[in-house]
Amino acid sequence: MTDILFDLDNTLYSSRFGLEDNVTVRIIEFTAKLLNVSHEEAAAARLARIKKYGTTMEWLRTEKGFTDGDAYYRYIHPENEAAALKRDPELKAFLQSLDCRLSVLSNSPREHVDRILSHLGLLGVFSEIFDLKRLNYISKPRREAFDFTLAALGAKAEETLFIDDIPRNVEAFIKLGGRGILIDEFNSHPDYKNDKIKSLRELRRFL
Ligand SMILES: [Mg+2]
Repeated sequence: MTDILFDLDNTLYSSRFGLEDNVTVRIIEFTAKLLNVSHEEAAAARLARIKKYGTTMEWLRTEKGFTDGDAYYRYIHPENEAAALKRDPELKAFLQSLDCRLSVLSNSPREHVDRILSHLGLLGVFSEIFDLKRLNYISKPRREAFDFTLAALGAKAEETLFIDDIPRNVEAFIKLGGRGILIDEFNSHPDYKNDKIKSLRELRRFL
């Protein structure tokens, strides 16, 4: 295995910090204001549409004609969003010891990715960072997002390990012929049938 692609949120840090839950709350707030509906209605509409689109922003762009991605991302990723996140002091050395080319593939914008990586002490660990804007708002689990990433890396799916906390993202990569691993620290997906880990420390056995 020569390439490892990591999702960022709830993959390179634990979901127990609640950072992504807070992002979801702000996404619903933003959507409710934008569509002029209640939080409950916004939450229900998002839940129904997110299955079709990789991200809420993709849904709002495609179906609601909303294009101000900068305003959206500034709202859902405020500057202090990483405050609750605790650094794993040994993670950087562990990742570097894997002796593979490491990259990040995130459905978030680059500003968020950089802020979190900096907070986690992981700057400089990743060769390439594929964020939502670099992918031109085409997000996981869409095939084009993976095709673009693999082509940019000059990598083959079958020689690449991809780790994400969302089953449909992992399954999409497996469908392309890649090796996909679900990270599921709290066994949120007990029925998931493919390869699964609770901690990134288990990755070595897949290399
Ligand atoms: Mg994630």
